[in-house]
Amino acid sequence: MAESNRRLSLVEPFKCYRCGYCCRNLVTESPYGLVGMFLMPGERRLFPKTNIRPYLAVGMNGPDKNIAYQYAEMVCPHITEDNRCKIYDQRPMTCRAYPLIEDARGIGLCGDCKWVQTMRHLLPFRLTKIANKSMIQGYIQIISLIRRNSIRRGWIYNLADHQWHTWEEMVKVGGGLAL
Ligand code: SF4
Ligand code: SF4
Repeated sequence: MAESNRRLSLVEPFKCYRCGYCCRNLVTESPYGLVGMFLMPGERRLFPKTNIRPYLAVGMNGPDKNIAYQYAEMVCPHITEDNRCKIYDQRPMTCRAYPLIEDARGIGLCGDCKWVQTMRHLLPFRLTKIANKSMIQGYIQIISLIRRNSIRRGWIYNLADHQWHTWEEMVKVGGGLAL
């Protein structure tokens, strides 16, 4: 068997271990500030209003128009005691995409995911192999929203100081986000 085929045969499809980590640690330090779970505008209805904050906005001189939101609590209200999602069929695009995430180098796998940790010895061959339809769909929807709104002229709401910061400022501080 050719070496490349032998490597690919080692790749296993994504399997969630239901450890619950990703649903109980929604507020994280990112390359562009302290942020909660990313929500598309239509996904706000799934969460209590009191814990929703803006995430991204566009505007030449200030955050004139919100284009995305965030759930600003650590633990998702929809996780059950045995780590199942109560709204699985309606879950946000972020959840569908996970463990695919956007990081400082572009698209990547979240190192906090238990499954990713068990597959670490196979990285980086497996990204295209493990990314299933749901992940790709979620990821594309989020990136499309950002690109449609020319986020490079945008603003980010940072949960650390509850202030808006320009995209350029946060990218400079955090090391960049490859879009
Ligand atoms: S909506 Fe479901 S999958 Fe998403 S964080 Fe909450 S419990 Fe987890
Ligand atoms: S961190 Fe990974 S393995 Fe654990 S529940 Fe989330 S997706 Fe599943």
